[in-house]
Amino acid sequence: SRPVLEIKGLDVDYGYGPGAVRAIHDVNLTLGRGEVLGLAGESGSGKSTLAYGLTRLLPPPGVITGGEVLYHPRDGGPAVDILGLDEAGLRAFRWAETSIVFQGAMNSLNPVHKISTQLTDVIKAHEPDSTQAQRLVRARELLRLVGIAADRLESYPHQLSGGMRQRVMIAMALALEPQVVIMDEPTTALDVVMQRQILRQLVRLREELGFSVLFITHDLSLLVEFSDRIAIMYGGRIVEQAPSGAIYRDSLHPYSDGLLHSFPALHGPRRELTGIPGSPPDLRAMPAGCAFAPRCPKAFDRCATEVPRLGPPDGHPDRSVACWLHPTAS
Ligand code: ATP
Ligand code: MG
Repeated sequence: SRPVLEIKGLDVDYGYGPGAVRAIHDVNLTLGRGEVLGLAGESGSGKSTLAYGLTRLLPPPGVITGGEVLYHPRDGGPAVDILGLDEAGLRAFRWAETSIVFQGAMNSLNPVHKISTQLTDVIKAHEPDSTQAQRLVRARELLRLVGIAADRLESYPHQLSGGMRQRVMIAMALALEPQVVIMDEPTTALDVVMQRQILRQLVRLREELGFSVLFITHDLSLLVEFSDRIAIMYGGRIVEQAPSGAIYRDSLHPYSDGLLHSFPALHGPRRELTGIPGSPPDLRAMPAGCAFAPRCPKAFDRCATEVPRLGPPDGHPDRSVACWLHPTAS
């Protein structure tokens, strides 16, 4: 079926001219309608840069230097390139079409305003003709959706737990019924039990409301459990992409293997946690070949000299990998 978002050949740099470093390289990624797509990778792999880039929220000195981000509107009309929208177009787009819950978002609620004000302000900005009474009804309904009692509308952020503040952020993100909700590690600051609860709730809401989710985390175990597909990033590139079950059962990229062994097995006997020796590449001194080669237990000569292209490996049309162990058809 028709996807909702198609990222094509996206490049993002930090800085300009000779001092620029490339943080996102030629990223191609498609978000299906109603799909939960997980994006994983170690710290510094470019996950947030990708999320900010595709929503045009990249802080300076971040610059998008190439590619397109096609958004398919719900009315079936022609696709819109988000990268080509002007300020007015972007204002209409944000919250209503695509909303984003930032890393550390639960601390970004305004401390001096009640929850009711913050929720109704989001609605008011996009629906100026609505009445405050209508907006309050919506705000109450939104809190119910995320499992918070309506009397919490009268609370200030400091009166809520971290988990509740996170749910309020999710309620705000859903306020205008967007087609796409992006969550950038919304749960790292919360305990593991809370992380699971919030993700489970999000997946349930997705089924109820029909939006798509791009969920960013370095906790692959959460993604294996809750997402339909997983994309793995390393050094600013997608290195593998596949249905979650396929990643869990037989990941093809040695980096994905490394990430999978960095968390305890979901089912069956516990595996030893090894982590990945070495550290992520320095953007200012990227290896000439595969960025993972210096840390890769399976690297061979070619890996040090040529960057592998992302593509479907033999016999797996529904997955893609960028690794010389699995040359692609092209
Ligand atoms: P984390 O898991 O820690 O959130 P991430 O995958 O979201 O990491 P990004 O924050 O997107 O990674 O960073 C990607 C790369 O871009 C890193 O090497 C980082 O150092 C670099 N970077 C991020 N912001 C800037 C900036 N403002 N100026 C220069 N480089 C930056
Ligand atoms: Mg990040």
